[in-house]
Amino acid sequence: MLNLVLFGGPGSGKGTQSAKLIDKYGLYHISTGEVLRDHIARDTELGRMANSYISKGNLIPDDLMIQLLDDVLEKEAKDKNGVIFDGFPRTLPQAKALEELLKKRGTKLHAVVGLEVDDEELMKRMLSRGAATGRADDNPETIRKRLDVYHNQTMPLREHYTSTGHYLPIDGRGSID
Ligand code: AMP
Repeated sequence: MLNLVLFGGPGSGKGTQSAKLIDKYGLYHISTGEVLRDHIARDTELGRMANSYISKGNLIPDDLMIQLLDDVLEKEAKDKNGVIFDGFPRTLPQAKALEELLKKRGTKLHAVVGLEVDDEELMKRMLSRGAATGRADDNPETIRKRLDVYHNQTMPLREHYTSTGHYLPIDGRGSID
């Protein structure tokens, strides 16, 4: 079993690097952002609710995200070599919940890979992704809010995972390889 968290700001390359790790290690990939965007595309009740947060650059409430992750783990991630968590946890309560969810399944978190990229570069990447894909929250105003939320609510996890010995910083600039 290998359970990894890919950690980093919006646009830091979590999705891109996840794809490479999945190929190499045969892991199951859970991107909470993708799960939510899928609900929005299918216009489900959860999708409509999530969209009201995502479109403003805010985080979806913890209890909802934790329940969603529990469901995905139950349905999709059984009998896999491990999981890459991409975009989860984003808050300290989510990190605590992840620990419990893994423990309840007889496993644990092995490492948190932190893709470290400065805000200016993140902004540039998200603007070009928005232009290329039409992703709705990749616009200047929402990006600024997402970066604020990242610094205020998610960055404290870096310290948390450093103190638990899980955090592995990676320079997230330069070529993808
Ligand atoms: P991402 O694709 O990971 O950048 O996520 C896009 C958006 O989905 C975020 O800006 C949040 O609004 C929401 N989201 C994704 N994952 C989480 C999470 N773990 N907790 C709260 N909100 C999330």
